[in-house]
Amino acid sequence: QETAVTLVLARSAAARAADLPGVVGADLQVPLVTGGSIAYANLDLAASAPALQSVAAHVAELLPYYASVHRGAGYASQVSTALLESARVTVGEFVGARSDDVVVFTRNTTDALNLLAGCVPGPVLCLDVEHHANQLPWQVGAHRVLRVAETVEQTLADLEAALASAPVALLAVTGASNVTGETLPLERLVDIAHRAGARVVVDAAQLAPHRRVDLAATGIDYVALSGHKLYAPYGAGAIVGRRDWLDEGTPYLAGGGAVREVRIDRTVWAAAPHRHEGGTPNVVGAAALAQACRTLAPLLDGAAHAHEKALSDRLAAGLATVPGLRTLRIWPDSTDRVAVHSFTLPDRPAGLVAAYLSAEHGIGVRDGRFCAHPLLLKLCGESGEALRASIGISTTAEHVDRLVAALQQLTTRGA
Ligand code: PLP
Repeated sequence: QETAVTLVLARSAAARAADLPGVVGADLQVPLVTGGSIAYANLDLAASAPALQSVAAHVAELLPYYASVHRGAGYASQVSTALLESARVTVGEFVGARSDDVVVFTRNTTDALNLLAGCVPGPVLCLDVEHHANQLPWQVGAHRVLRVAETVEQTLADLEAALASAPVALLAVTGASNVTGETLPLERLVDIAHRAGARVVVDAAQLAPHRRVDLAATGIDYVALSGHKLYAPYGAGAIVGRRDWLDEGTPYLAGGGAVREVRIDRTVWAAAPHRHEGGTPNVVGAAALAQACRTLAPLLDGAAHAHEKALSDRLAAGLATVPGLRTLRIWPDSTDRVAVHSFTLPDRPAGLVAAYLSAEHGIGVRDGRFCAHPLLLKLCGESGEALRASIGISTTAEHVDRLVAALQQLTTRGA
């Protein structure tokens, strides 16, 4: 039953959606098991978000200039090189990079954090709620894992104590949890880390598509992000941050372009970013990522935020009406989250529910342990798996309502 409030919300969400940029495939039709087809309700944008139409148009525009980068004198080479280097500037601006910060292009966030792991000059501290991309790279060197407390305040206090108890070079934290969407107060966290002499890297794979990240304003030292979560194609990401570690660290991808000079018995490596970008770079991916940054930047504090907040609240309210549904939270006292919601249904295996939602309702959600096994173990127990619905600029009120209605149908009628 729609109340006046939800109707108003739906109308304003639809109006705001009109201001938002389009994505490729927004009108995709998918088959239903019952026959026929339905417009795809993609509620798995936290995994990978379809490219913006502005990104697709930009890629089509630059493809004719496909040529060697940094190593060609021809006109197309000059254009390709300029595209790559201007993309670097745009991505830096998107995350509020300081003038002496470096932007290194990578394949994705996982790649970005692995690259940084080869440059950290000391032990790393990370939390037990992280995506594997922000846990496993640190395991190759000296590291500690802090078990987070049940409140944000206690977690910050524990963090302060952990940083004081032994030297830490780098604190690695998520900007927004890929399981619950919850965020930590990053500025306070940076303050705590810097007072203890540690730098901070933020895994912004989930944060950057929803919130402005500003290295200069917040003091965050490094940020890692993925293009495919920012409405750009797969295969391009970046690590952005302080130059000294990146200049001195182990070259991530040794080869042509990463060097100043090579003799049989001696190599002089280039400074960052080229030091870590051996071989022919992904110019199309970098330029596409930059175009997504250009389109998204003005929307993150405005239309996109308002649209996502309205739909996220609508989804949370809807999920609360589904019998037995349990929403996962790390910190019940946290007041901020991006539009990522994970939940379980009693006696319903997550994989089966996800298959039902896809086959009978044309809804795409994620199920499983979301590459965050320690966190899912903690929240759901040994055999625990969950479902995740995530919202972005291409989500509509109809997608959200369809998911809630399908879950209600499943739980009340036993479909
Ligand atoms: N960090 C978080 C919080 C994520 O959600 C993801 C992807 O789901 C990653 C890191 C890894 O991103 P990628 O697969 O693009 O490397």
